[in-house]
Amino acid sequence: MTERKRLFFDIETSPNIGFFWSAGYKLQIGYENIITERAIICICFKWEGEKKVHALHWDVRKQCDKRILIKFIRIASEADEIIGHNGDRYDLPWLRTRCLLHGIEMFPDYTSVDTLKISKSRFRFNSNRLDYIGQYLGLGGKIKTEYSLWKNIVLNKCLKSLDKMIQYCQRDVRLLEKVYQRLAKYAPHKVHYGVLAGHARTTCPECGNSHVRSHQIRVTAAGYKRIRLQCLDHKCGRYFTIPESAFKQK
Ligand SMILES: [Zn+2]
Repeated sequence: MTERKRLFFDIETSPNIGFFWSAGYKLQIGYENIITERAIICICFKWEGEKKVHALHWDVRKQCDKRILIKFIRIASEADEIIGHNGDRYDLPWLRTRCLLHGIEMFPDYTSVDTLKISKSRFRFNSNRLDYIGQYLGLGGKIKTEYSLWKNIVLNKCLKSLDKMIQYCQRDVRLLEKVYQRLAKYAPHKVHYGVLAGHARTTCPECGNSHVRSHQIRVTAAGYKRIRLQCLDHKCGRYFTIPESAFKQK
């Protein structure tokens, strides 16, 4: 077995608070209307193989996300992979934008697995929302968060509502992990955990098992030969390809 440091995470954010003189459709609200900038309310995360879903949240009275960002960036930097649903286009840029404001340093890049990217590019679901995919796979869906929850947290500084939001967020992280476990096998791996654990390239990139079988030889457009292998661990069974040269060195 290998030790995989996979970090599943999700964030909840607050809305901007601002003035608007009328309500309706086809309205334009410029950034000069913002009075209080949006921020990150909570970051929930879970390590693969652990039961606990951790939660970092802002102080509901101060509503500042600096402290939780410092903590989370430290945690994320320990991960081999960070996994989020729409993490590449939503959560990560959000974190980066808030870190920039507070002057918190973070890596310019992370090995990120975005389950939304996998679902969009490799499947054809009726909807690519985590809620739908969870239901489709019989894993359960998300709890719908009502508008009043944000209002109670941001304007009324309600602790009970904050707790509720954290609970929802933690639940989403559990669902994210379950969905990831089902989808990941259908996409190429991003980290070779066998090599990370000090084993050969021919070992399984998921579990590090050296008991693998070769399936077929593939030849790329440039004429390079690659071998498709499969892990023979009955719980894993991961398919992966490596260059023929690495296979010969075995
Ligand atoms: Zn394996």
